[in-house]
Amino acid sequence: MRGGGQVRVSHSSLNYKDGLVILGRPGVVKDWPIVPGIDFAGTVVESKSPKFKPGDAVVHTGWGVGERRWGGMAGLASSRGSWLVPLPAGMTPERAMAIGTAGFTAMLCVQALEDAGVTPEWAGGAPVLVTGASGGVGSVAVALLAARGFTVVASTGRPELEGYLRGLGAAEVVGRAGLADEAAHRALDKETYAAAVDTVGGLTLTTAITRTRYGGAVAACGLAGGGDVPRLTVFPLILRNVRLLGVDSVMAVPPLRARAWDGLACLLSPAALESLTQVVPLDQVPPLAADIIDGKVRGRVVVAL
Ligand code: NDP
Repeated sequence: MRGGGQVRVSHSSLNYKDGLVILGRPGVVKDWPIVPGIDFAGTVVESKSPKFKPGDAVVHTGWGVGERRWGGMAGLASSRGSWLVPLPAGMTPERAMAIGTAGFTAMLCVQALEDAGVTPEWAGGAPVLVTGASGGVGSVAVALLAARGFTVVASTGRPELEGYLRGLGAAEVVGRAGLADEAAHRALDKETYAAAVDTVGGLTLTTAITRTRYGGAVAACGLAGGGDVPRLTVFPLILRNVRLLGVDSVMAVPPLRARAWDGLACLLSPAALESLTQVVPLDQVPPLAADIIDGKVRGRVVVAL
């Protein structure tokens, strides 16, 4: 393990990828048998990095853990040094995992938009769309964008969660179907949104791009609804200068990681985080794995070990 160490895990979390692993879906696991848990928080027990010593409280998000090596749900996990960050001041391990890879990715999406010039000032009150809003990444993205001062429109396939999404800061909640309507598709649609955070992919991503206004951007990080981007043309990219920003949390370099965790610690209110989190013991994970793949889990699932 390059410059890494071993961590006694106190909390891990259930992510979409973990759901795929637990259900035995192809494409994620590189080596059987495997214990899931792509992220974890805990205490260093052994360190090969000068940055950490035994006893330090740390958070891991990265690649390979829970895919090539046993994940956080094993209770003792190893991590490369570059994927460990100190537990931010004032943050508990449970809170860090309530954020987890999903929340970290949501923060990277917000940073990507702002680095592309899509700030609340630039948006000037024009809404930012979040798709897959009831899911882990989506819920945190709604809360973060609202906390930054954006007007947020949350798209969900679960209208019964409107109150939940408004509680996180959404100004408006729209149905998922309206963003994936083949018949209503237009290569350049009405300029409705300043920007979008997309966790769904598929025609939903196409629609988000075609409805983004001139000079805006779409931060795309997920494919819960499919890996294709059907019917997308270059018109919005050329004629409206809409930027498509791919966000992959694994590839975030250490300074970006630290900035994201600091941003999360500052922006996410404890009340918002609590409302989007459920904490479960290990034996409740298997049924939730099926639910997360079916889009039935609300927000984030923390696994307490
Ligand atoms: P969740 O399962 O928690 O949320 C996904 C949400 O997408 C669902 O809750 C649902 O919300 C919506 N959705 C829309 N269409 C579908 C569909 N056909 N099937 C299932 N759900 C659908 O997952 P996460 O939020 O944790 O992850 C979302 C995506 O982001 C996944 O593809 C995941 O792999 C990816 N991801 C990428 C990362 C990266 O670094 N790039 C990091 C973390 C996750 P609703 O009903 O509200 O529309």
